[in-house]
Amino acid sequence: MSEITIMPAPMRRWVTMCPCGASEIRAEEGPRWRMFTLRKLEEKRYHIHCHACGHANEQWIG
Ligand SMILES: [Zn+2]
Repeated sequence: MSEITIMPAPMRRWVTMCPCGASEIRAEEGPRWRMFTLRKLEEKRYHIHCHACGHANEQWIG
């Protein structure tokens, strides 16, 4: 795994994981991500930035 990935988790939650080891689980309704910055580029496509290591990439979600 060389990219930050985001994937659905049980109970309407989302998991984001970075190759550096940073990860976070978030409920769909919030609160906001703390360890990552997600910026919506278009429908279902996001730019994800990891605060821990500075890595960033784009990811399709859903
Ligand atoms: Zn990272």
